[in-house]
Amino acid sequence: MSEQKLENVIIVGGGPAGYAAALYTARANLEPLVIEGFQWGGQLQNTTDVENYPGYPEGIMGPEMMQQFRDQAERFGARFITDDATVLELSDGGVQRVHVGDEEHLAKAAILSMGAEPKRLGIPGEQELAGRGVSTCGVCDGAFFKGEDVVVIGGGDSAMEDSIFVSKFADDLKVVHRRPEFRASKIMLERAAERENISFKTPFVPEEFVAGEDGKIEKVSLRNAETGEQEELDVGGAFVAIGHVPRSELVEGVVDTDENGYVLTQDGSTRTNLAGVFAVGDLVDHTYRQAVTAAGTGCMGALDAEWYLRDTPPSPEAHWQKGGEPAEVAPTPSG
Ligand code: NAP
Repeated sequence: MSEQKLENVIIVGGGPAGYAAALYTARANLEPLVIEGFQWGGQLQNTTDVENYPGYPEGIMGPEMMQQFRDQAERFGARFITDDATVLELSDGGVQRVHVGDEEHLAKAAILSMGAEPKRLGIPGEQELAGRGVSTCGVCDGAFFKGEDVVVIGGGDSAMEDSIFVSKFADDLKVVHRRPEFRASKIMLERAAERENISFKTPFVPEEFVAGEDGKIEKVSLRNAETGEQEELDVGGAFVAIGHVPRSELVEGVVDTDENGYVLTQDGSTRTNLAGVFAVGDLVDHTYRQAVTAAGTGCMGALDAEWYLRDTPPSPEAHWQKGGEPAEVAPTPSG
């Protein structure tokens, strides 16, 4: 029987959190294996200029920044598999098993950093005009819309946060929401309402983002949800802020999550309910969701994993040694 290598730590996900975890665990001589995903780099792969990451005074393109994060981790010995993890068999203090298609990788610790993705409207023009006037991150992209008339779609705190930020740059900003009532907290709604160039347009459902001759967004067509009437707004930008979906489907039912699927960690740490399993980045964070905060928690996850490996002597039942019986593992998540 061929011996299967037992890694110290496997990191699942290749965004700022995963690469920061890889850098720190690599520098701790843990030789991390990163299952970075087929579309490695996370949400920053779809971002143009990043101007709010400290240390880049001139800004940097999102994909280039992710390449640099990756290179830095690689320099210290991180190894990468550029494919998607397909099944995670996670255990409480035993061997962590990560499947990538037919391959199985074993580790003493796992750092989950699968991230989140912005919810999409699923309307024509949304995907085609991404980066050409349609954005899912006001805080990232707002500064590029100086003097433009823009819409922000959504009625939650994210929409308010984006609106308040983008209104510092935009000329006129309309918050388009499908209901007259807002889900946003009162304070956020009030702060948005206080800004002179923000107005609210309800109940309207966006139906299409339309490009101008230059290939950038020129109009958004809206339908009144009550009367069915259509109308078009001339815009230079549209921000879709209707929430995020954490990519926790692989650990559903095994790792504790909140009702929205965000992985729960113990206060002030990245520890999940399973010993040896840590969670970082947007998979956990539904509030800040910035590259810099994700990278910060990636560092925390690496240190937590390092301390776990140092302080938790393997139990005989865990069968850390090669050739032992398979460790008891939590049930494989379905789907
Ligand atoms: P959210 O609270 O789920 O709000 C999403 C909004 O988008 C809702 O108003 C929803 O409309 C609308 N929406 C969803 N799908 C839509 C669709 N297909 N078409 C049109 N509209 C759609 O999400 P969130 O605003 O991202 O907030 C998530 C969590 O993070 C919340 O707990 C929030 O408090 C927190 N957060 C806090 C801050 C802060 O305090 N600074 C900032 C951002 C987020 P309906 O209301 O009609 O369902």
